[in-house]
Amino acid sequence: MSKNSDIKRIHQLRDWINTYNYQYYVLDKPEVSDAVWDSLNNELKSLEEKYPEQVDENSPTQRVQGKALGKFKSVNHPKAMLSLNDIFSIEELEKWEKRMHKLLDKTDLQYYAELKMDGLAMRLEYENGVFKRAVTRGDGQTGEDVTHTVRTIRTVPLKLRKSKNIPSAVYKYFEVRGEVIIPRAEFDRINSERSKANLPLFMNPRNAGAGTIRQLDPSVAAERRLEFVAYSIEMDLPQLKTHQDEHEMARELGFKLEPHDSVCNNINELEKFIKKWDGARSKLPYQTDGIVITINNNSEFESLGVAGKAPRAAVAFKYPAETATTILEDIRVSIGRTGAVTPYAVLKPVVVAGSTVRRATLHNQGEIERKDVRIGDTVIIRKAGDIIPEVIEPITKLRTGKEKKFVMPKQISGIKIVRPDGEAVARLSDLSFGEVKWQQLIHFVSKSAFDIDGLGEKILAQLMEEGLIVTAADIFRLKTDDLIGLERFANLSAKNLIESIAARKKISLGRFIYALGIRHVGAKTAQDIAVYCSTIKKFLSVTREELSAIDGVGEVVAESMAIWLGSKQNQRFLDDILSTGVEVLPQAKPKAGRFTGTTWVFTGTLDTMSRSEAGAKVSVLGGDVTNSVSKNTSYVVVGDDPGSKADKAKNFGVTILSEKQFLKMLEK
Ligand code: NAD
Repeated sequence: MSKNSDIKRIHQLRDWINTYNYQYYVLDKPEVSDAVWDSLNNELKSLEEKYPEQVDENSPTQRVQGKALGKFKSVNHPKAMLSLNDIFSIEELEKWEKRMHKLLDKTDLQYYAELKMDGLAMRLEYENGVFKRAVTRGDGQTGEDVTHTVRTIRTVPLKLRKSKNIPSAVYKYFEVRGEVIIPRAEFDRINSERSKANLPLFMNPRNAGAGTIRQLDPSVAAERRLEFVAYSIEMDLPQLKTHQDEHEMARELGFKLEPHDSVCNNINELEKFIKKWDGARSKLPYQTDGIVITINNNSEFESLGVAGKAPRAAVAFKYPAETATTILEDIRVSIGRTGAVTPYAVLKPVVVAGSTVRRATLHNQGEIERKDVRIGDTVIIRKAGDIIPEVIEPITKLRTGKEKKFVMPKQISGIKIVRPDGEAVARLSDLSFGEVKWQQLIHFVSKSAFDIDGLGEKILAQLMEEGLIVTAADIFRLKTDDLIGLERFANLSAKNLIESIAARKKISLGRFIYALGIRHVGAKTAQDIAVYCSTIKKFLSVTREELSAIDGVGEVVAESMAIWLGSKQNQRFLDDILSTGVEVLPQAKPKAGRFTGTTWVFTGTLDTMSRSEAGAKVSVLGGDVTNSVSKNTSYVVVGDDPGSKADKAKNFGVTILSEKQFLKMLEK
């Protein structure tokens, strides 16, 4: 994208994030999911990093969001209630740790890890040991007094528990921070009652909690089982040397804390904690939206200070979301083996569920129309586990007016695309076309052609279905990120396949010509043509006359080859494949070998290799391979179910070899 359009996008994103923030924090009625908000916010953050001169203190990335509705009394916070910076991967965590090491000039740091409750931030004040006031975070400086509803929460102690371990100052004035949440079961109960009463449902427990707390009438809150879970004490007390001390003191005073908090002594322990809770947190009775990681030592924490809207010494690790937003850059079609024509979205790469997604299925034209997805739209995409990424819907409010509707092409390679009445799927009018393309791809990666390890039929079919491979050239455009997360692919297997594809980017001209799958051009003929042409440059301009003059290349082959090379579509394919970095090496003339001067014919099915592979092995050793038996034939190798060539060989008195004997001759 150009700088101008990036800057336009920055302003557009700010406008929309501000609107979403208003809906979320002020009205408690979010219009989009948190994952969508996170994705838009991330996009804004990375654009602001790219253009630091565009950063504005009023940008939603720089300020704690939220605002008092004016329903309740405003209260200034004695110490700002900040937000947290998000990180989404272990790499980002490592980066953060490095920054901490640098800023504190030491590496032996201790961390505190705790689950991040997904609720409403709250500050509670106690005077003379008695609950006095509850204040929302608001804009970070000023919140709303919601004491009347918070007082109904059973986990808010109305009186602090007495303990001899607690300094007496605490019983004079005390304040604690935490999160008001609604447990999942309670959230389901509230929504099912609202559904019976035909009331709009709450989108998530956080927003239900916020809506409840900001009711004027406390009886609604009393009826709902909200909880207050404490997470910090922001007071200057000599007893509070670490974040862990804060937790212990809060527990001792009678507050509920998330019970799985833990001190971590290094990044490995943090990583373990993060991994442990990735799956396990869904079984907790309340909703969490990540892990809060804090520098445990309070004086170190304070010395690191605040940057923008968050403290430097803490981060929120957010687990990868299954949905994200990105820009749909194009809609193309893939052709299935059965001739089905399936539209798919080409996306601006985006990380979803831990892997980068570049394409997503759009199923069929009806689906595109129903969802009103347009080229250029900002779209919400989903990738859950092994499921193929899909476009859920466009965010129509983010349209600029330049979006284009998708039009299904009328034909592909001269073959019409038809959509029979009443059917959702468009198909090629010649159904064999899909199968032909498929066979071409299989041939392309076969042993005597590109010979790509790990790219068998199953994987090829899968990558075609996912729209990652449409033509053979796409194989060389694959990236590890495209594969990670797909069924059958873990990080290592994805990396291995990409490496074995890269290893085959250099190919001899003979193999390259064979891989093109031109009619009548077997491995041996391809090699003969390659020896004549020597370089790819010459091959691309070779004439029919030249071809037919090559030893071993007859009229039929020359004609088939000339027609293939003359086709505009094939020329485009050649340009395309060469543009992916495939390097065709000049063909070396075969050295005179053990088989020089001998002529070979293969018939029947061989057990250990295909006939064309066997032929290629003979060629390497200088032998000639032909299709028909004559008195000049030196050897006929007979596999299973041989044709009439075996009988002919007997008649001519030609030496007949079994596959075993042939293999022995190769070994000599
Ligand atoms: P945040 O909620 O991601 O993180 C900061 C807050 O975490 C703190 O204020 C605190 O209340 C809370 N927290 C929970 N457990 C904690 C713990 N153990 N220790 C410390 N703090 C803890 O940041 P934010 O800026 O308030 O909100 C941003 C998030 O809100 C986004 O990631 C998004 O998910 C959501 N959001 C959604 C929409 C929407 O329209 N869906 C709009 C705005 C914001």
